[in-house]
Amino acid sequence: MRLIDGLEKLRTLAGKAIVIHDGYRCLAHNQQVGGVTDSEHTQGMAADVEIPGLSLQEMYELALQVPEFAHGGVGVYDGGFVHVDVRLHASRWARVRGQYVGIQHLVKDPVLLAKSQTTSRSG
Ligand SMILES: [Zn+2]
Repeated sequence: MRLIDGLEKLRTLAGKAIVIHDGYRCLAHNQQVGGVTDSEHTQGMAADVEIPGLSLQEMYELALQVPEFAHGGVGVYDGGFVHVDVRLHASRWARVRGQYVGIQHLVKDPVLLAKSQTTSRSG
C-alpha cells in the first residue's frame, strides 16, 4: 500500500497521469526481464514509471519529493524511465547501456554530491 500511496503522490506532484511500465513481477517474469533475484518488483514494492514530457532529471527530482521513495529506492534508466520502490533504506542508482552505475552518470544529485558517496544497486 505504501507503493500505491507514493505513486499517487507522484501523480499529484506531476499534475498529470504517469505511465507505469512495470509493477509487480512474478519470479519467472522478473528473470525474463533480467531483474535481480531479490528485486522489489517481486515483492510488489516497486514500479518503473515514466512521466510524459519530463526529462529523467525532472522525473528523478519529483520522485525524491515523495517521502515513500526518498526513503526507499530510486533508480534512473537510460531507457527513459525511473524505478521507484518502498524498501526501508535509501538507495540510488542509474543504469546506462545495460550497466548499473552511480546515479551521477545520469542525473545531478545535490544530496549525493554533498555526501560524496554513491550507491549502485540494481532494482
Ligand atoms: Zn524497476
